[in-house]
Amino acid sequence: MTQRPQIPPPPYSGGCLCGAVRYAMKGRPLAVNACHCTDCKKTAGATNVIMLIADSAAFSATGETHSFRKRADSGRELDIKRCAVCGTRLFHHNMASSALVFIAAGTLDDSTWVVPTSHIWIERASPGVVMRDDAIQVAGQPADRKILMDAFTKVYGEQLP
Ligand SMILES: [Zn+2]
Ligand SMILES: [Zn+2]
Repeated sequence: MTQRPQIPPPPYSGGCLCGAVRYAMKGRPLAVNACHCTDCKKTAGATNVIMLIADSAAFSATGETHSFRKRADSGRELDIKRCAVCGTRLFHHNMASSALVFIAAGTLDDSTWVVPTSHIWIERASPGVVMRDDAIQVAGQPADRKILMDAFTKVYGEQLP
């Protein structure tokens, strides 16, 4: 397999299709996770969604968003934010904890470095999806998000300041 691109240093910028919502992330991602669950497929209109998991304190956004409160079977609730004008799915927080933000990686201005280090809900993955050998694969939702961050650290390790 081809080598993973280096992750560029922060900050990272991104936004929606129409430009009304813009965001900035001042810190490195903590994980790059691909979710293959049915809800992600529906909300994004894609066969999976790649999310950067990041520290909320390092994240800021401007522009009007609409929220969609999603309830998982587990009872877990997410607030999915979309641009109020063009409807692009941008980011979400878990209602139980706002310490982390989950950013839809395709909304980055430069997403060329984004390669997942973990895949979840793999039993629902489209057969066309490529999963690298160095990325972990988890059936369903991991009980602890830490394994996604550990997988990221294992791959990118000390390259991150
Ligand atoms: Zn927009
Ligand atoms: Zn999902």
